[in-house]
Amino acid sequence: MSERVVTMEKVVNLCKRRGFVFPSSEIYGGLISCYDYGPLGVELKRNVKEAWWRDTVSARPDVVGLDCSILMHPRVWEASGHVTNFNDPMVDCKLCKGRFRADQLEHASCPRKPSKRPGECEGELTDVRSFNLMFKTHMGPVEDSAAAVYMRPETAQGIFVNFINVVNSARAKPPFGIAQTGKSFRNEITPGNFLFRTREFEQMELEYFVKPGEDDAWYEYWQNRRMQWYTDYGIKPENLRLRAHADDELAHYAKGCADVEYNFPIGWQELEGIANRTDFDLKQHIEHSGKDLSFFDAASKERYVPYVIEPSAGADRGTLAFLVDAYDEDGPDDDRRTVLRLHPSLAPTKVAVFPLMRKAGMPEKAQEVAAMLRPLVTTAYDETRAIGRRYRRQDEVGTPLGVTVDHQTLDDDTVTLRNRDSMEQQRVAINALPALVTEKVAPPVCTTPLAPTA
Ligand code: ATP
Repeated sequence: MSERVVTMEKVVNLCKRRGFVFPSSEIYGGLISCYDYGPLGVELKRNVKEAWWRDTVSARPDVVGLDCSILMHPRVWEASGHVTNFNDPMVDCKLCKGRFRADQLEHASCPRKPSKRPGECEGELTDVRSFNLMFKTHMGPVEDSAAAVYMRPETAQGIFVNFINVVNSARAKPPFGIAQTGKSFRNEITPGNFLFRTREFEQMELEYFVKPGEDDAWYEYWQNRRMQWYTDYGIKPENLRLRAHADDELAHYAKGCADVEYNFPIGWQELEGIANRTDFDLKQHIEHSGKDLSFFDAASKERYVPYVIEPSAGADRGTLAFLVDAYDEDGPDDDRRTVLRLHPSLAPTKVAVFPLMRKAGMPEKAQEVAAMLRPLVTTAYDETRAIGRRYRRQDEVGTPLGVTVDHQTLDDDTVTLRNRDSMEQQRVAINALPALVTEKVAPPVCTTPLAPTA
């Protein structure tokens, strides 16, 4: 494997050129920090979310899913503390009117003189003010304060307010988890760095409910499990680290918090937070709703409010990390190859089928092979230009397998199967392809035990 050649610019260019990600509303000049996933991007992000769902929900007996509405009762956000506390410190430049996160000035640049930091130019900064990150809108035809609702800034609260519904309907008993993926909205003061920080993004959150006293073991368990998940799906271990929050960084209710950080081209940044949130959220909702959200353990006759371990990941940030980590260039300078070394199960297209030439019945045969594989895995077909160019086009978007129909195919019903990473080809029978291809693009098998080991 070659040394790290990736820059954010290269990834952004590839995403635009090959249809992973487009700027939103581009024909109108774009909308800052909003992006649209193109044909390949939508497959990649779906695969990331499916990988998370498979390993966090489907493959476990102790986790169920939920899909809550984005608009919730405004009192949810009073109870959760978001109305009062979900703020970032903000300063304005009195000269250029630019707005900046007061705690991130060292990473910001003056809009008028980009070589200077805000406040180090001629502009004077205002005092620090708190800026609430929730988007507000109105429900129904009357735009008064009584009709104000918020776009959810996280998916977690939908899980907490449904805790008793799930316990009763799914007969769940701690330790157990409720998982959700979906859109969240934050009016970030300084969005940027492509998909890294946007105002509309998707989260993948698990709230894992445990008996108080068992929380430390589960907190450690989920930290290990989540780190392992990223490396199982191909992130290089040297680009991943777990950073425990210092005491002064911890939210007042959290007993512990650690960030899974990825070494992006912009430096080490949070990919996911894993927190021991204690019984704070359920207790807040007990207090504000007046409903009993405690759990009664019929076996031990104990009643308690469960503690919660929360691994909270970003689907877009995760997708960006998988793209950045997979990006590679190899070969000699005069014949450079760009290749996305995505884990096959994450790759947007699993197999591309090519006729070697556009004659002698090869295209027809290749179309037949593609039609056979398409119901099984995402399959592309390409007959334009030289075969070498076609391989390169697929390498660049991470397609792990290439199937080529050539002269010999027409005699003996065999094809070549090309591997994206090694570029090696093997000759295989067409009727062996379905099993072979499915096996080669299968997701990794999770080897972490289902519970903490003593
Ligand atoms: P940050 O410190 O980067 O603002 P956070 O600590 O506020 O993140 P959490 O509230 O813990 O983030 O959200 C969980 C995850 O959701 C983050 O680790 C990240 O992957 C994702 N996320 C949060 N904010 C954004 C955003 N503005 N754009 C894209 N993803 C985000």
